[in-house]
Amino acid sequence: MHYPENTRQVEAIIQNARKIKTPLVARSSRGPHLHGASENPIAETVDFSCMNRIIKIDRRSRYVRVEPGVTFGELIPLLKDAGMRLNMPLLPRAGKSVVASALEREAVLIPKYQYDYTDPLLTVEAVFGTGDVFRTGSAAGPGSPEETRADMVLPWGPGCVDYLRFFTGAQGTMGFVTWATLKTEVLPSLSKLYFVQAASAEKLTCLANTLLRRRIPDECVILSRVSFAAAFAEDAAEEDKLLSTLAPWVMLCRICGFERYPEERLSIYEGYLKEVCAEAGLEAVPEVSALPGLADKVETKITDCDRRKTYWKLRRGGVREIDMLCPPSRAPRLITLLENLSCPGAVGITVQPQVLGRAFRIECSVFFSGDPTETEQVEKALEDVSRQLFEAGAYFDRPYGKLSKIAFESDPVSTEAIRKLKRIFDPDGILNPGKLCF
Ligand SMILES: Cc1cc2nc3c(=O)[nH]c(=O)nc-3n(C[C@H](O)[C@H](O)[C@H](O)COP(=O)(O)OP(=O)(O)OC[C@H]3O[C@@H](n4cnc5c(N)ncnc54)[C@H](O)[C@@H]3O)c2cc1C
Repeated sequence: MHYPENTRQVEAIIQNARKIKTPLVARSSRGPHLHGASENPIAETVDFSCMNRIIKIDRRSRYVRVEPGVTFGELIPLLKDAGMRLNMPLLPRAGKSVVASALEREAVLIPKYQYDYTDPLLTVEAVFGTGDVFRTGSAAGPGSPEETRADMVLPWGPGCVDYLRFFTGAQGTMGFVTWATLKTEVLPSLSKLYFVQAASAEKLTCLANTLLRRRIPDECVILSRVSFAAAFAEDAAEEDKLLSTLAPWVMLCRICGFERYPEERLSIYEGYLKEVCAEAGLEAVPEVSALPGLADKVETKITDCDRRKTYWKLRRGGVREIDMLCPPSRAPRLITLLENLSCPGAVGITVQPQVLGRAFRIECSVFFSGDPTETEQVEKALEDVSRQLFEAGAYFDRPYGKLSKIAFESDPVSTEAIRKLKRIFDPDGILNPGKLCF
């Protein structure tokens, strides 16, 4: 196990690993290390928890630069003090690394501020498998980060290559990131959360499309009632109450007003929201009638991380997941396949519009006891359904384990190109071997 404290030490670890031909795997988050993507039985772990400096918070240019050991639990309150927030995933665990989450392209809750799949990531410093340090985009220079006059927020380049993309979704196979610049958003001065319930997911995916075309919601996410109850109930009694009273699908839609004319903006957005809902035969309401007072808790939770003792996905003991991207038109078919999944435990589904609503990230989580026999059954069910999902148009852009085979086998030309790039940036294949197509 290695615990580097700065970039020089990461360089030295990688250069030495090349010499002695020892594989390495990067880990930046605190436990529980779900599914083991940051574990590799044939590699030594490079744990970035000691690289946990917040290098810069810039309100004027709206960004933050942090080392990979910085967690959501630490960063959210500091940004709040500076009047800013992150475009967050849905309830990440408090110990999840902000940088690793962005590198993994975890779905964000506010699609209208996400212009590319790599957002909110802007630039990174990384050490390639060659042992060379490299900075992407406008962080590349000229000069060192201390000398450069750039604010290091432009993601493209250097030159005409988007090097940033080599590191995202790469599971630490191309290089180890030593700091990252992330886009931040201004904290709203006024906000209101609405719930829209529906019998089918399709009603809500269509609604999300319309709302996002008009850029109305900030946070916008669709949850099956199993996921909603798992994420927001405080105890088993609340979970049962939600499961027995909610419609099968719930959309959370948060509208926000800022420094200038916040009330006016909110009232215009409210008008649009109600009008679009009425046209679709739906209703946007500010409370969940089964549990009065829940709305405030939900709003607090979607703007924070999960600070509870047990992470919401692990309340039943175990969880197995599968996630994919798809165009909005394909989402209903894929969701139906997941709704018909037959395995032990409860199947939760979340649908998150991404990149201004151009695509949906669908995430299916099976919450079960964690018992080894059940684990086998759940994994088998997910493996079987993944083939059907693939044939129905799912795009597995961040494949883990057996999913990698399906994703890469289908496109041998791109797979070979990716392997060629890997040979340039990690010639000895020491970074997280065995993952993706390596
Ligand atoms: C829907 C879903 C399904 C999943 N299914 C699986 C699955 O079936 N199998 C599986 O193995 N995983 C799976 N994962 C991924 C896994 O759950 C997460 O990546 C997991 O949280 C990893 O543990 P961690 O948080 O401790 O890792 P983190 O430390 O957060 O690291 C996450 C990833 O980033 C890499 N990384 C960490 N730090 C750096 C750095 N500084 N530079 C470069 N790379 C870095 C790690 O090697 C790892 O691959 C899934 C995730 C989701 C959302």
